[in-house]
Amino acid sequence: MSDYDAIIIGTGQAGPFLAWRLAAAGMKVAIAERKRFGGTCVNDGCTPTKTLVASAYAAHLARRAADYGVMVGRDVGVDMKRVKARKDAIVTEFSEGVRKGLEATENITVHAGHARFRSSHEVAVGDARLTAPRIFINVGGRATVPAIPGLDKVPYLTNTSMMDVDFLPRHLLIAGGSYIGLEFGQMYRRFGSAVTIIEMAPRLIQNEDEDVSAAVHDILAREGIDIRLNAKCISVTKRGDGIAMTLDCAKGAPEVVGSHLLLAVGRRPNTDDLGLDAAGVARDERGFITVDDALQTNVPGIWALGDCNGRGAFTHTSYNDFEIVAANLLDGASRRISDRIPAYALYTDPPLGRAGMTVAQARKAGKRVLVGQRPMTRVARAVEKGESQGFMKIVVDADSKAILGAAILGPGGDEAVHGALDAMYAKAPYTVLQQAMHIHPTVSELVPTILGELKPAE
Ligand SMILES: Cc1cc2nc3c(=O)[nH]c(=O)nc-3n(C[C@H](O)[C@H](O)[C@H](O)COP(=O)(O)OP(=O)(O)OC[C@H]3O[C@@H](n4cnc5c(N)ncnc54)[C@H](O)[C@@H]3O)c2cc1C
Repeated sequence: MSDYDAIIIGTGQAGPFLAWRLAAAGMKVAIAERKRFGGTCVNDGCTPTKTLVASAYAAHLARRAADYGVMVGRDVGVDMKRVKARKDAIVTEFSEGVRKGLEATENITVHAGHARFRSSHEVAVGDARLTAPRIFINVGGRATVPAIPGLDKVPYLTNTSMMDVDFLPRHLLIAGGSYIGLEFGQMYRRFGSAVTIIEMAPRLIQNEDEDVSAAVHDILAREGIDIRLNAKCISVTKRGDGIAMTLDCAKGAPEVVGSHLLLAVGRRPNTDDLGLDAAGVARDERGFITVDDALQTNVPGIWALGDCNGRGAFTHTSYNDFEIVAANLLDGASRRISDRIPAYALYTDPPLGRAGMTVAQARKAGKRVLVGQRPMTRVARAVEKGESQGFMKIVVDADSKAILGAAILGPGGDEAVHGALDAMYAKAPYTVLQQAMHIHPTVSELVPTILGELKPAE
């Protein structure tokens, strides 16, 4: 039995940072990890996908070189083994950095293995029995494998097994037209695969406003990605050396045949084999650990951070969970999850940067909505870069003058959206941003302009 001041389960985007802060404050900390250090983001999420997106962008730009007057002289080829090797090198550097950083820190003991609660203050990792008055759960999630008829008889890939792919699938079928599916879809199309994205809903990324969905759909379709919507009746069967998927789509043939199948239909929390019942920790019906506004579970002394609490699904929400818990425990603060503003990006090219509410959400919240918007064809920087697909829009409350949200689909949209996000955190009326002088030529310079052209939302 080893006694600690704190036990952390999982080395995702909250655990390691919390371990370092608690250790620096003089606490004796145990941290458990059953797989690779750094969790999903580092090993099979953000880091590898954005590394692969960069390779795909290079291939795309090389093919378009002549548009810029640059003659590359031969067909563009993609060496998938080298693409994967580049990705692996970056992932290993990040993951090993987390492991070595934890192992080298005084006051931190790393336990490799699967952790399970034995009581509200005791955790088993292999043969080790750890006790502490404070336990922090940062176990993340994994890809959902849906109950598609026939799935038990065909091979399929998830975002995790995709990381081992070092060849070019002839025709990649992707079940799921949301963020993960779209990033992989555009990436593999640019590598040279035929790609079909199959989505049950009537549109892609259905949490976004319809104009955003439509613009992203258009960008992907122009690159030759086949998008099949309204796929209400999916089943799969083996067909030769490939996979046939029945769709029952409103448009197009009711079946599509590909060489490989990627499931990108959501994620579920890693809370099913954690011994939560032994600790008395409550979960909701989908398995997410129930937490209050300060990340505390129903059991005093146990917190849940990151994707496993269902209050965020991003690296930055998990990291923000760490900041909230650390500030409340160590700095005497009373920070809350509800103080944060939703923000995220879709890393297609061009990327979509999103902050706050969509127009639909603002309307649903009963706001009188004003919108300023402009296509990227009227943004000098986008035109100069030869990347003028997409558009930008800002959503404003006509009564309070508060900025409610923003969507920037265009070059650097993931960066440019932070101007609106920070103004929202500052609780500044839109007029402050409207009168700001921005740098020319940038995508951001049009934010003040469109705020001067607000109109009631259509
Ligand atoms: C393909 C893909 C792309 C993504 N892209 C982005 C992006 O661009 N931007 C973004 O913000 N987010 C992105 N995400 C989401 C992001 O990866 C997660 O939100 C983020 O990793 C937060 O995770 P976490 O801290 O909750 O835990 P995780 O990162 O999931 O880590 C949990 C860790 O706990 C360990 N663990 C689990 N159970 C146990 C146990 N019982 N004992 C010991 N260890 C255990 C796991 O092995 C894992 O290492 C992406 C996700 C995917 C799948």
